[in-house]
Amino acid sequence: MADPVRVTFLGGLGEIGRNCAAIEVDDRIMLLDCGLMFPDLDMLGIDLVLPDFSWLLENADRIEGCIATHGHEDHTGGLSFLLRELSFPIYGSPLTLGLARNRIEEAGLLDRTKFIAVADGERRDIGPFDVEFIPVTHSVPHGFATAFHTPQGIILHSGDWKLDLTPVDGRLTDLARIGSLSDQHGIRLLLSDSTNADEKGHSASETRVGAVLYDLFHEHEGKRIITTCFASHIHRVQQIANAAISFDRTIATMGMSMKKNVRLAREMGLLDIPERSLRDIDEIGDLDPAKVCVISTGSQGEPMSALALMAASENRWLKVGQGDVVILSSHPIPGNEANVSKVIDGLVRLGVEVVHTGIADVHASGHAKQEELKTLLSVAQPEQFVPVHGEYRHLVAHARLAQQMGVPDDDVVICEDGDSVVLTDDGIERGERVPAGYLYVDGIVGDVGTGVLRDRRVLAAEGVVVVIVAVDRETGAIITGPEVITRGWVYAPEAEDLLDDCAERVRDAIKDAFGHDATDIESLQRVVRRAAGRFVNEQTRRRPMIVPVVMEA
Ligand SMILES: [Zn+2]
Ligand SMILES: [Zn+2]
Repeated sequence: MADPVRVTFLGGLGEIGRNCAAIEVDDRIMLLDCGLMFPDLDMLGIDLVLPDFSWLLENADRIEGCIATHGHEDHTGGLSFLLRELSFPIYGSPLTLGLARNRIEEAGLLDRTKFIAVADGERRDIGPFDVEFIPVTHSVPHGFATAFHTPQGIILHSGDWKLDLTPVDGRLTDLARIGSLSDQHGIRLLLSDSTNADEKGHSASETRVGAVLYDLFHEHEGKRIITTCFASHIHRVQQIANAAISFDRTIATMGMSMKKNVRLAREMGLLDIPERSLRDIDEIGDLDPAKVCVISTGSQGEPMSALALMAASENRWLKVGQGDVVILSSHPIPGNEANVSKVIDGLVRLGVEVVHTGIADVHASGHAKQEELKTLLSVAQPEQFVPVHGEYRHLVAHARLAQQMGVPDDDVVICEDGDSVVLTDDGIERGERVPAGYLYVDGIVGDVGTGVLRDRRVLAAEGVVVVIVAVDRETGAIITGPEVITRGWVYAPEAEDLLDDCAERVRDAIKDAFGHDATDIESLQRVVRRAAGRFVNEQTRRRPMIVPVVMEA
């Protein structure tokens, strides 16, 4: 009998983002990624969403470390929050660690962790974990799939990956190694990225994008060109830079993270831009605009980003208009479509020519589509399969692909956040569930619950009515008020009568309450809320938040 091995999914199964899984061998826990998610539009005022850390905190002494598969924030952005409470080492490629380090450093938590760099193909023992780091191609360089050699056989986690036979840096997804693991040992459990599982066909090669960019630069000679992509997409930055240099343009980075990442990647030798071709955005004033290529952040339409400010004519470095071309070398991630289209609209209104994926193939996905997913399944030949990373429909689509590729129905398990699976000598079974709700971050962290969000939605949609009244509880006399104050229900200066009538109604209700001896403060507050709420609804058919403030005089 070999010891059972458990995999618990703390995030990323049922949504795009906040990827986080925990693998347990010999009673120790290895985290696999710890990411954040950007909020939906209805999460008012929320900056970020994290995995629920409560299970990890309860099991803090069992945590061996965290493996960061690659440098995207939806895989590493949660670390700077988890490290406030826990301390453990982080393993990853040097670039992944360099990217992950930024936020951790900003949070002042460098002393809570050790960054341990691992190389392509390296196999290493970390506590009871025997882990192999297998290169994969993705939209940030130097990502890994991870193979855990466990007492229950090999668990292979794909990380975020695609099959690109002509990647910009020549670093291929190492299917050969996966094939040989499958041949030699067999792969017990495959966990694979489902982001594009409902997309037919094969993702385009990143180098295809380079050719398209070159053509666009050719077509727009004589105009200023502003491009935008993810700041971590070093290969895209390289291809934009190559096109710019071919047409004798100087490259200027705009936005903090673009500047930082370009510097980091050049230091690591992952980005080849000669010093003479590179400037900072505040140093291009004296250059001919037709000889400039700006590479900016803001490809997701983030409201305060360099590009969004440009579209609103509020960018202090760059005023754009007629004669400028903006190339959005990116695709909006789910939830960001509205922001991106607002930015495009703003730019077009200013007279800018905008090129986006709807117009030219200026982007290639970093995630495997159906044919690639099937290729991995056929090479890995897993005994069991759990689709990871994706909304529910992506997980289901990926599960179907696995069945098509011959994994028996009973061995394909669809899990959601909080679910776990246990591998035993008898097969795969569902394990205990752990808490996995959203941890909302607004400002520092954590104290925003669903109750606060519900209040914010009511406030945003209907406004608030505050009714203040002071009573003498002995005599039942109303000493001051009721005073009715509102924000967002009606505009008070134009609706004084309405507010007076509301106060009148509340006054009557209080008198009535004293008549019935319901005179404790809590009962009076209830009476006030009900009276005001009814009045507001009768008069206006609206349901603002009613806040009764009853004081004892
Ligand atoms: Zn991802
Ligand atoms: Zn990724």
